[in-house]
Amino acid sequence: MTLREQVVLISARATSFTAVCVECCDLDATEGYAGSTFAGRLDLDLDHATFLCRRGHSVRVERAAAAIAESAA
Ligand SMILES: [Zn+2]
Repeated sequence: MTLREQVVLISARATSFTAVCVECCDLDATEGYAGSTFAGRLDLDLDHATFLCRRGHSVRVERAAAAIAESAA
């Protein structure tokens, strides 16, 4: 069993996202991506969190640089 840390970046103002789990992509290689995506929610006051995909793989979700959000505000 290998544990690779996956990091997914979401946009600075996103509160919900759909990400692709690379581990599941490997498992789903013959089926396409349909089974490897998962949706999550990251509130604006959080800049990162760790989620589990549907199969339980750990995926770290990070918000794109906070500086971008500030300059855009
Ligand atoms: Zn997965």
